[in-house]
Amino acid sequence: MTLQQTTQAMPDWTWEFHGHRCPFMPIGYRMGLAAMRELGIGRTTDHGVFALVEIGVGHPQACMADGVMAATGCTYGKLMMERLGYGKVAMVLHAPGKGSVRVYLRSEFQDELATQEFFAYRKRGIEPSQVPPEVAQRAIQVVLDAPEERMFKVARLPDFAFSRPKSSFTKTKCSRCGEYVFERYVRMVDGKPVCIPCSGFAEARPDVLKGGQ
Ligand SMILES: [Zn+2]
Ligand SMILES: [Zn+2]
Repeated sequence: MTLQQTTQAMPDWTWEFHGHRCPFMPIGYRMGLAAMRELGIGRTTDHGVFALVEIGVGHPQACMADGVMAATGCTYGKLMMERLGYGKVAMVLHAPGKGSVRVYLRSEFQDELATQEFFAYRKRGIEPSQVPPEVAQRAIQVVLDAPEERMFKVARLPDFAFSRPKSSFTKTKCSRCGEYVFERYVRMVDGKPVCIPCSGFAEARPDVLKGGQ
């Protein structure tokens, strides 16, 4: 792997998948590539590798998660991605047996990128697809042209631990609504199995429902 400066190419499908052209999707894509190279792994097709993005909600850098998914194959739908909610432009790639690595978008690079006109539009509430294409492209080009070592702080996390509950196909019918519920999510009310929405229990993802993830 050469360190000479080259422009990162983005597959067309990543833009189509993401929906608009912005600088943070390619940041995530490059983060994913850097993390995979550090761990010596390729794009994952099945399960077993996890991308834990440190972004939260309520700040506009969350687009990076789509780039991380595109690069690593750690899709949200396959339960290979979690949002840690630290409010940082960073990710951890965890590959059991290979190790874990954290990639952080350097503060200096964040400052440099923030001077792009693209963000003046975004601060006025203009959606990325409504930003003049040449303005968006200038910001994207800064991301694609930057040498990786100037963009990212990459660090191995030797003690990082992450696991998922064991998968189970066992399901039970809710005694109230009659719908199937996978066993981890069954609650008991008056001795009968119920689903979380029927249970009235406040634990029904109150964080998500109240917008406070
Ligand atoms: Zn975006
Ligand atoms: Zn129910």
